[in-house]
Amino acid sequence: MNFEFSRRANNSAISLIRVISQKAVGNPDFISFAIGNPASDGFPVEGLNQASQKAFKENPIETLQYGATIGVPALREKILQMLKEKKYMTLEGNDVIVTTGSQSGLSIMPLVLCNDGDAVICDEFSFTSALNAFKGCGANLVGVKMDGDGMSPADLEEKIKANPNAKFIYLIPNFHNPMGITIPFERRKKLYEVAVKYNMPIYEDDPYGELIFRGDPQPTFKSIDTENIVVYAGSFSKTLAAGLRVGFLFGPSAFIGKATAAKGFLDSQTAILNQLIVYNFLKDNDYESHIAKVQKIYKAKNEHMLACLDKYMHPDCKRTNPNGGMFVWITMPDHVDCEAMFEDGLKMNLGIVPSRGFTTDCNNPGKSFRINYSAPTLEKISEGIKRFGKLTYKYCK
Ligand code: PMP
Repeated sequence: MNFEFSRRANNSAISLIRVISQKAVGNPDFISFAIGNPASDGFPVEGLNQASQKAFKENPIETLQYGATIGVPALREKILQMLKEKKYMTLEGNDVIVTTGSQSGLSIMPLVLCNDGDAVICDEFSFTSALNAFKGCGANLVGVKMDGDGMSPADLEEKIKANPNAKFIYLIPNFHNPMGITIPFERRKKLYEVAVKYNMPIYEDDPYGELIFRGDPQPTFKSIDTENIVVYAGSFSKTLAAGLRVGFLFGPSAFIGKATAAKGFLDSQTAILNQLIVYNFLKDNDYESHIAKVQKIYKAKNEHMLACLDKYMHPDCKRTNPNGGMFVWITMPDHVDCEAMFEDGLKMNLGIVPSRGFTTDCNNPGKSFRINYSAPTLEKISEGIKRFGKLTYKYCK
């Protein structure tokens, strides 16, 4: 029997990143800057092992039984306390739901706010799996122009006016995926003003906020959210362990109520064991000093990557200067054929992701590449950027 696949299934292209990663299988000479894996030496293996054993010892039945869809109460309380103390968020009128990684929040948001054919407003280049989640939930994408400070407030206003069926704005304010840029506070305030003017909710996706290694942290949208229109998404994937799949949404209580109903039919609950591992780790360890250690790892990799790029890359290529997170964005001169360059890279055993993998508009593939520095070792970064440098000289001629 042949399945007749849905339009949704047929429209969800296999991620370019997965295609590149397959090239690396069984090829030890392949260097991939494609995948966005966190630095694995930042995972607190021993602390998480103890946290896991403690869950079984102290709460065996809670660990193994179904639990509340909204999340384990002790973890929700801990998250609320951290948001209040560390990010200065007011808890009044808001609530928190634990999600299965922050990825699942990217399906919950459109399920709660969009009818089929409604629009989600995004940066013109944005996180592939967010764009796929929005499309997969039946929404259309509207891309807004960007500059070095992120989304343009003027173009945001134009796009909201031109799309009366837009239901929310999606932003990655810190160490943007794919670009590595951070929205400065002044720009945040302007974007927030536009959102308030048009009564447009903001989804603030912040999985990288704690991975800051230069400059000052910028206040979150949620911390200036006097009108309570922001849903803040956080994750323990980069700071504790990506495989545990524990994240959260913090937003208006009425929204969290609907989000809980949506999560009920999506995945019923996030694994209780994983929630308890995160909770026990946060309770029994000095999270701040753990984060400081992780930041140091990212800083060293970032500095090495940028130094190699500045040494080997053709001077006509432009790069961003990430102050945190795991990606740098390289933009080629207009005449460069980025598709040929990408294919040539694969032949040289080099995986870099062309900007078409992140576009909201297939007529605008862009002229850039995303390069990850958190996953490869320092040695791989040196060798891979030498190869990348050669490519840039070949194509910038
Ligand atoms: N948002 C952004 C911007 C991301 O880059 C990622 C993945 N790296 C996620 C959300 C999802 O991460 P997770 O589900 O592991 O929390």
